Amino acid sequence: MKAEIISVGTELLLGHTVNTDAAYVARELSALGIDLLFSCTVGDNPARLREALQTAFARSDLVITTGGLGPTGDDLTKETVAQAAGVELVRDPASAARIEEYFRGRECGPSQYKQADLPRGCTVLQNDAGTAPGCVFESRQGVLVLMLPGPPSELLPMLHHYAAPFLAARTGGVIASRMVRVFGIGEGSAAERLADLLESSNPTAATYAKENEMFIRVTAKAETPAAASALCEPMVAEICRRLDEAVYIVNEDGTSDSCLEQVVVQALAARGMTLATAESCTGGLLAKRITDVPGSSEVFHMGAVTYANEVKTRLLGVPAELFDTVGAVSPEVARAMAEGVRQAAGAGLGIGITGIAGPGGGSAEKPVGLVYVALSDGKAVWVRRMNPAGRIRSRAALRDRAASVALDM
Ligand code: ATP
Ligand code: MG
Repeated sequence: MKAEIISVGTELLLGHTVNTDAAYVARELSALGIDLLFSCTVGDNPARLREALQTAFARSDLVITTGGLGPTGDDLTKETVAQAAGVELVRDPASAARIEEYFRGRECGPSQYKQADLPRGCTVLQNDAGTAPGCVFESRQGVLVLMLPGPPSELLPMLHHYAAPFLAARTGGVIASRMVRVFGIGEGSAAERLADLLESSNPTAATYAKENEMFIRVTAKAETPAAASALCEPMVAEICRRLDEAVYIVNEDGTSDSCLEQVVVQALAARGMTLATAESCTGGLLAKRITDVPGSSEVFHMGAVTYANEVKTRLLGVPAELFDTVGAVSPEVARAMAEGVRQAAGAGLGIGITGIAGPGGGSAEKPVGLVYVALSDGKAVWVRRMNPAGRIRSRAALRDRAASVALDM
């Protein structure tokens, strides 16, 4: 099967948005053993999209479009594709009902319902993260056409959950995938350690880097789900062996994304342990991330945001002289914060975070990005120093990383 991607969106041509969708689709196709021969980008312009479609229909067996399925005026992919493919759009009642449900209590106008207009006879791909469904159908030219939404948060689950299994069945087989989630190792060094594995073809392994963490998706294709799973397992085990402690969870399914905070809350709950946090430079982000997890009240006692030094002293008992001797951003203060909040909250574990989030306020010996994270269990205290990153990081990225380091600890 020869495949081609058409990415639709003027923002992609202007360089305002990086075309990550095409990369995700390409990796998925490779995992399925489908050859991708062309990938092109076209703006939100029906005439030029039609031109791209005509070319694609003439040379490819599978044409995948991304973007332009939404309710706004510039979302013209479906109309244009339907016309070029010689099929009619008809309203899909199930999709219309889902959209109505999504808008329950709010106004749901005709442009919203328009999203439920799909090629007659198509297989509807449900959108679990938004309103516009995707679909797959056969064009009059005999080409398989797959339409996916633009936002990556919608495209990825649809691709993994619905489109990939459909394509796998078409090409004779089913796929299984595992998501190995990793923190504390860069994509570059992970790729080095996994180099030979990343070249494997069935199962495939691909790295996906996020701002502060990474995941590695292992996908295998076989005749039965059990056989596909069995193909994944040795690869997953080998990845876990090579990345060792950096791996914090392996998700069974490609889209269930357990994040660090979820794993931490579950781990604490399983052990009957409790936690309190004292944050300076992260401003409560760690507490926020922990309390994002349902059920965190079982393990989370208290989160204090202590910015002023005298508050660190009064509330957490950080010795005042430390601020004159070693300074607020120091391992000593991080330790005292961790133990102080642990005691104040009567929790089993305490975390203290102090650092310089920037962009201003750094000095030669304490540059922006220097953060100390301490963890106390009442008997011992561990401290991690976050190195000021060589590359410039935003304040938000630094704070997020500091919170992740605390969770990792
Ligand atoms: P919506 O319902 O949100 O309008 P849509 O399917 O119509 O979804 P678009 O309007 O084309 O999709 O794009 C919506 C947003 O999704 C874009 O502003 C962009 O941020 C993101 N996006 C679109 N295409 C891509 C792509 N190829 N790669 C990464 N992001 C994309
Ligand atoms: Mg749109």
